[in-house]
Amino acid sequence: MSSSIFTPARPLRVAVIGSGPSGIYAAEALIKQSQVPAEVDVFDRLPTPYGLVRYGVAPDHLKIKSVTTLFQKVLSDTRVRFLGNVELGKDLSVDDLRAHYDAVIYTVGASSDRRLRVPGEDLTGSLSATEFVAWYNGHPDAAARTMLLHAAGAAVVGAGNVALDVSRILAKTAGELHTSDIAAHALAALEHSQVKDVYLLARRGPLQAKFTTKELREFGELEGADVVVLPEEIAVSDEDYAAITDNVVRRNVDVLREFAAKPLAGKPRRVHLRFLVSPAALLEGAAGHVGGIKLEKNRLDEEGNAVGTGEFETLDVQMVLRSVGYQGVALPGVPFDDKRGVIPNTAGRVEGRSGEYTSGWIKRGPSGVIGTNKADSVETVNTLLADLGTLTPAPGSSREAIDALLAAREVDVVTLSDHLTLEAHELAGGQAAGRPRLKVAERGAMFEVIRSGR
Ligand code: NAP
Repeated sequence: MSSSIFTPARPLRVAVIGSGPSGIYAAEALIKQSQVPAEVDVFDRLPTPYGLVRYGVAPDHLKIKSVTTLFQKVLSDTRVRFLGNVELGKDLSVDDLRAHYDAVIYTVGASSDRRLRVPGEDLTGSLSATEFVAWYNGHPDAAARTMLLHAAGAAVVGAGNVALDVSRILAKTAGELHTSDIAAHALAALEHSQVKDVYLLARRGPLQAKFTTKELREFGELEGADVVVLPEEIAVSDEDYAAITDNVVRRNVDVLREFAAKPLAGKPRRVHLRFLVSPAALLEGAAGHVGGIKLEKNRLDEEGNAVGTGEFETLDVQMVLRSVGYQGVALPGVPFDDKRGVIPNTAGRVEGRSGEYTSGWIKRGPSGVIGTNKADSVETVNTLLADLGTLTPAPGSSREAIDALLAAREVDVVTLSDHLTLEAHELAGGQAAGRPRLKVAERGAMFEVIRSGR
């Protein structure tokens, strides 16, 4: 089959599953190329587009979220449609997609989290950063969760940017949070938070930390919290410092040294950035609740891996958030590599499948910033374009046919226009409250707003 079968009257029709950054960048790459006329339907199981930009990026990092202006431009192109509230495996199957599209790109990200695998991990008060982030960002799946913030001590396990995000949100004052787009239920709860000490626990040293300097520096600017760094835990010899080749790592060490040297100002909260410690166990307090965390001190072996020293200490914490990485989840009917948590692929082409592709975290694993997904999706689209001659066109494929199928299944599809109604509502609510936005978190409430605009 030659690529010339796709014409302006019968363009290449692609379904993108997931409207986060990698999905939007894939749609953009498809409409920007000039090899073949293309039409893209971008699906999402949620009623809102943009995935982790809406539900992952920290609420006080509003600048990062401005990328949605570009994303909205992509979804507004006449060749692109947004079909929200449509779930693969529930409302549509892979067979349905193959019957209606010439190609499918899976861009569903990594929605689950990794575990610590230590005793006590399932005690009340121990949860994943993913759950906590979903809660404060107003994710509909987490809207009803009650977060117990009576803890005086909170431990955040991990040394990536997500660990910094959750530690910072726990340490910020209500006034600081007010200027963010944090969900109203989370703002109300955090206003009454009893947290005094937040411990970020890195299992390795400052040279191995995954976080970036800009995010680390923000701890020096907190209104209501001092930063505590133990000089002995960030010790780097002159020789090792001179050997650092990565600028981010060097700047991280510089900032940590500044923090360690700075006298405490006596602010009401403290963020302790701890290194070379691993949780050995979460200790049970009253009524099945976390009552402490037992840490083992580590040293680094020659490969830079953390090795326990047999020396332990206990921290007085009542809340533990594990922030040790996201984890991809298998899609029904799509090949999956359980060990790596990704869809097995070569340059985006799903292994063993023709016409099926993948991009983003579910393709390469949960790493990189939003922009990383642009190059990743361009690679996938280039792979798809190189395969054009081998694609089997879906007979009878059209927008009308997929719309009719979803209507017959009584799926209440959310369009871009619906999304813009919700967006306008949230921004107007924000303006009235003197906040950047008032997020609607609960699904039913979202649909109430959406229907009012139809
Ligand atoms: P990450 O950067 O991969 O960090 C995961 C951290 O967990 C690492 O420090 C890792 O330490 C640690 N870890 C893993 N298993 C552990 C265990 N069993 N015990 C103790 N520590 C353990 O992941 P992330 O923080 O979830 O972030 C995901 C991606 O999103 C990253 O690329 C990140 O930069 C990006 N992101 C960016 C921003 C931003 O730009 N502002 C914000 C949020 C997220 P080891 O190195 O020792 O394995």
